[in-house]
Amino acid sequence: MIEKRLRKLIDRYRITGGKGFRLKDHDPADTGGLNLEKEEAQAMLADSTRILAEQQDKLYAQDRWSVLCIFQAMDAAGKDGAIKHVFTGVNPQGCHVVSFKAPNAAELDHDFLWRHAIALPQRGQIGIHNRSWYEEVLVVRVHQKILAAQKLPDRLVTKRIFDERLEDIAAYERYLARQGVVILKFFLNVSKDEQRKRFLERIEEPEKNWKFNAGDVAERTHWKAYQSAYEEAILATATPQAPWFVVPADNKRFTRIIVADAIAEAMDSLDLRYPELDEKARAELATAKQALG
Ligand code: ATP
Ligand code: MG
Repeated sequence: MIEKRLRKLIDRYRITGGKGFRLKDHDPADTGGLNLEKEEAQAMLADSTRILAEQQDKLYAQDRWSVLCIFQAMDAAGKDGAIKHVFTGVNPQGCHVVSFKAPNAAELDHDFLWRHAIALPQRGQIGIHNRSWYEEVLVVRVHQKILAAQKLPDRLVTKRIFDERLEDIAAYERYLARQGVVILKFFLNVSKDEQRKRFLERIEEPEKNWKFNAGDVAERTHWKAYQSAYEEAILATATPQAPWFVVPADNKRFTRIIVADAIAEAMDSLDLRYPELDEKARAELATAKQALG
């Protein structure tokens, strides 16, 4: 069971409706008053990942629901680390991570949801999407030259295109929810200053050099445009069936605890159970047991 105080915290970051949502009301440095000394934070995360693993075992056995976890963030907000630490202990057979980069030529020959749709988790599975269809209203909105390369018929590219995309995403998520896909969307909310520190670490620490990408520094100049694109996206697509979690991301330990708990809590509410055998199947087990001597 997830501790009550954590449930309360998760409630604070869960956005289930866009009305009145403003990103600037969310502090990237918030740690919810938790003590995040290393050992204690590790123990909390371990508790949540254990619950997650137990739930996943049932999800897989029951084979009805699937869980789609979407991760969106600015660079160096900690998506990769969160995925690595939160899903530790989850049976690899029951989960599937996909990272979405700029679409390739084959992908651009389809509608924008196509490549994401074919990557959705099967029933019984957890899908982890590192970036998602939201890039279509984030990076594409910030850099409209990307839009120009998307091979859309001219007359469909209007001023309303990003609002239309948000509408389509919301409609598609509603459809998926009605199909038994539990959608959890995480925006790891890092501050511009913390991002700067992390980029400097990537430059200064040899074992982090490989993570450094000069292009990411250039992207910082569009910070405001990204923040407003995120705000619009969350506003238009936060619903009870596909909530956003705006997770403070300046403190990585805190981020991971909140993400793990949010997923564990959502799965817990599904009331997952191992399938129960009917009388006939139980009789078959008894016969098999006899045959084994
Ligand atoms: P890392 O944390 O390792 O940098 P990353 O998710 O940033 O991970 P990259 O390979 O650096 O991975 O970046 C992927 C890039 O692909 C991002 O800049 C993202 O904006 C871009 N991208 C993803 N989807 C789309 C899309 N639909 N159209 C255009 N660009 C996209
Ligand atoms: Mg990157």
